[in-house]
Amino acid sequence: TITSSIPATAEITEEVRKSLQSIGVDPASLDGTRETRSPITGEVILRTKVHNDEEIETAIAQAAEAFKTWRSVPAPVRGALVKRWGQLLTEHKEDVAALITAEVGKTRSEALGEVQEMIDIADLAVGQSRQLYGKTMPSERPGHRLAETWHPLGVVGIISAFNFPVAVYAWNTALALVAGDTVVWKPADATRLSALAVDTLLARAVSDVGAPEGIHHLLLTDRVGGQKLVEDPRIALVSATGSVRMGQEIAPLIAKRFGRALLELGGNNGAIVAPSADLDLALRGIVFAAAGTAGQRCTSLRRLIVHSSIADTLVSRIVDAYGTLNIGSPTREETLVGPLINAGSFKAQQDALVQAVAEGGEVVYGGNRVLAEDQPEAYYVEPAVVRMPAQTAVVHDETFAPILYVMTYDTLDEAIEIHNSVPQGLSSAIFTQDQTEAERFLSASGSDCGIANVNIGTSGAEIGGAFGGEKETGGGRESGSDSWKAYMRQATNTINFSGELPLAQGVKFL
Ligand code: NAD
Repeated sequence: TITSSIPATAEITEEVRKSLQSIGVDPASLDGTRETRSPITGEVILRTKVHNDEEIETAIAQAAEAFKTWRSVPAPVRGALVKRWGQLLTEHKEDVAALITAEVGKTRSEALGEVQEMIDIADLAVGQSRQLYGKTMPSERPGHRLAETWHPLGVVGIISAFNFPVAVYAWNTALALVAGDTVVWKPADATRLSALAVDTLLARAVSDVGAPEGIHHLLLTDRVGGQKLVEDPRIALVSATGSVRMGQEIAPLIAKRFGRALLELGGNNGAIVAPSADLDLALRGIVFAAAGTAGQRCTSLRRLIVHSSIADTLVSRIVDAYGTLNIGSPTREETLVGPLINAGSFKAQQDALVQAVAEGGEVVYGGNRVLAEDQPEAYYVEPAVVRMPAQTAVVHDETFAPILYVMTYDTLDEAIEIHNSVPQGLSSAIFTQDQTEAERFLSASGSDCGIANVNIGTSGAEIGGAFGGEKETGGGRESGSDSWKAYMRQATNTINFSGELPLAQGVKFL
């Protein structure tokens, strides 16, 4: 279903201005030349200022200086800052969500979910601030104690992608701040307004709890400015989220200076649907993961590997379900599929569909642009379903738009082989009622991804688990579990209280 009622750009701008004002964003940051467009209409909503090289240098220098103070503040006191930030995010949840909807085109429900994710990670980080545990180990020598200590690391440079403009930044920032690090953030070009908003709320939290001002910096700059974070030896950890291409550009530069890198790159997520699957449940999981956020999640479902005995039935149910999805303005409550971020994404989707057909695929649903007459600058598309004869070249690429490729299998071994034979390794799922199949999928010889799910789709992770993927996805882990360790350095301590000096491994000297 296509809904043509799309708000005028002036209306979107008005709402954006109200949200920025309510949050207290400095009007001077909006007095600039860099255009921010809303994908809802494709037109300019506001302009922001751009930081020059000197301002970038000052930000990094201040973050390095502030680290010297912040690292010695007790971790639970650092936690109090993140707690206050979480409160302010809760107070301004609607305002931040409005900015995400305007800048990224996410439905309001998904935008609110993104802010909730920030609040959740703030809660987790506050608890973590009292649990930065190190182990003690038995020493092989009498009268000795052997232990590990976790210390703050330094300045963390955060580079973020447009599609989760603030949540992934918060995963990094909340943990980095309780770990005793300071942060410098380069958001995606398309999402400077939501970045200004959440950074302003952090500045308020800093002032409310009396933390040092220099511990966080927002850089309104493009990838050339971002490159400075990558190359600067004062940045102890570069945590970067985005495409595999970006990871390939920056990883060698960070490695060259022996900096630490935490990479969260592209996914090409697959789900296996076994003959025993509960198809009603699988259908809902598949449609949310494949068409939700207009296919613009790193965890979006892109490959469906279905047992040949149920493929026709499942595909026809997916096609029916796709036909009921409301496509239109994300500001409307009934909309489930909003716009693509820009013309480039639309072209990528169209090119991939042409390639898929050339490789023997059949587009069984969607792929067409809609609302083009009404909104010539905006790109609304029907999510596409494409049956493929095999996992051809096009299926190996992540196309950041809603295309679901469907392939079939006959044995579970074959399904896992197809599943694992793409270069990316972020998220994966199996729909089955057969416990042995589920366990096999989760085992060492099953899914090779960082996220492997059973009877739930590939997207929509909770913050309590570690998030990230293998292979070209970059290997980083963020958010819950023991991801906090990436933001700290480990020291091993041997303490001798024996009054003698026995050497390890029984070595004799002097
Ligand atoms: P992108 O790679 O175009 O840009 C990501 C960020 O990197 C932006 O801030 C950009 O300005 C910056 N950047 C790009 N090249 C750079 C360079 N050479 N030096 C410094 N900075 C550079 O990605 P995008 O289009 O914004 O986001 C979509 C991509 O992000 C998809 O591939 C998606 O899968 C991925 N993503 C991954 C995760 C994850 O957790 N694994 C989460 C969200 C998005």
